[in-house]
Amino acid sequence: MEPLTEEQFMDEGLTMKNTGPPLEPGADVYMRFMLSHCCYDAIPTSSKLVIFDTTLQVKKAFFALVANGVRAAPLWDSKLQSFVGMLTITDFINILHRYYKSPMVQIYELEEHKIETWREVFLQCSNSLISITPEASLFEAIYSLLKNKIHRLPVIDPESGNVLHILTHKRILKFLHIFGSMIPKPQYLQKRIEEVEIGTFTQIATIQETATVHDALSIFVERRVSALPVVNEQGKVVALYSRFDVINLAAQKTYNNLNMTMRDAITSRSCCMEGVLKCYPYETLETIIDRIAKAEVHRLVLVDREDIVRGIVSLSDLLQALVLTPAEITERASSEA
Ligand code: ADP
Ligand code: ADP
Ligand code: AMP
Repeated sequence: MEPLTEEQFMDEGLTMKNTGPPLEPGADVYMRFMLSHCCYDAIPTSSKLVIFDTTLQVKKAFFALVANGVRAAPLWDSKLQSFVGMLTITDFINILHRYYKSPMVQIYELEEHKIETWREVFLQCSNSLISITPEASLFEAIYSLLKNKIHRLPVIDPESGNVLHILTHKRILKFLHIFGSMIPKPQYLQKRIEEVEIGTFTQIATIQETATVHDALSIFVERRVSALPVVNEQGKVVALYSRFDVINLAAQKTYNNLNMTMRDAITSRSCCMEGVLKCYPYETLETIIDRIAKAEVHRLVLVDREDIVRGIVSLSDLLQALVLTPAEITERASSEA
């Protein structure tokens, strides 16, 4: 892959500043680590990969994600003889949200549409696959995931055109957590999360346990967040409902009843972790990275001593802070506002 130009850094929500405050000593170790390792280094020796032809029916595709225990699949267009995009759980959410009417009415579009039909309706223009080569650095992979606001980045061998793996924030942080432990730890890891302000601390999207699954889907679509802390009447966090959990509606064939409450949707999840993985404002960045990496989740819910939701610390926030910000690539002020 060609090195990124300054112009590429500047577009779509990320900016590269030429000047700025001097970096703290050691602040760029993770940036350098990611620059010096390529995507191939982070790919497991074997993993399952599912690919869908765009003529497959959407409903069958989501059932196939469940049956194969995968979260996403690259889409192959046999007419074009190329990969044209991805199918993820977010697409399932978008279909349900757009076409669901009531528990009494079958979702015709889910039953009948092919992936290509759905893509024509939803994308309205051709949306190409965002991918990366195995030789590209992990820094570029992180940059692409964050700039494009996606969670799945296929690694494609330029020689054969084969998809080797689908990189995620989780995989990259795990790689950093395991191999990054060999490099000296920067001092800022000992700072408290409230000090370093890594995460989102205002306008947190949450959902009441009495709200419906349809309400949750609306928030996913409108706010584009990856998960919702579920709160009780006192505002205390009692569970977490992530986009991933929506696939249970396909697994249990309950997507025709989105009037189900969050409480019911949560208790009926086939496999999920007990309780909520949380963190506290006084905990250090190092503790938080350890916890999120070991638990293999995409975010921790930041709470106060009363379990009231105060923020979200997501893998996107950590990778932005540890890797992109030291390269002076920041989220554009307008997207933060
Ligand atoms: P999820 O978190 O549900 O896995 P994503 O956030 O990755 O989903 O996907 C958001 C949207 O972007 C979806 O419509 C998905 O099809 C699309 N998308 C995801 N990854 C890619 C990619 N590598 N190239 C093109 N489109 C993608
Ligand atoms: P993905 O691998 O698709 O990013 P997530 O990490 O969002 O998936 O979710 C995987 C599973 O872990 C889901 O069942 C979700 O509810 C659960 N989960 C994710 N984050 C937390 C958390 N902070 N606390 C409790 N459960 C969580
Ligand atoms: P993610 O989609 O989890 O990779 O995160 C992208 C950004 O959205 C990060 O800055 C998160 O802190 C933020 N975010 C994730 N979930 C929520 C939420 N429920 N409410 C507000 N912001 C969130």
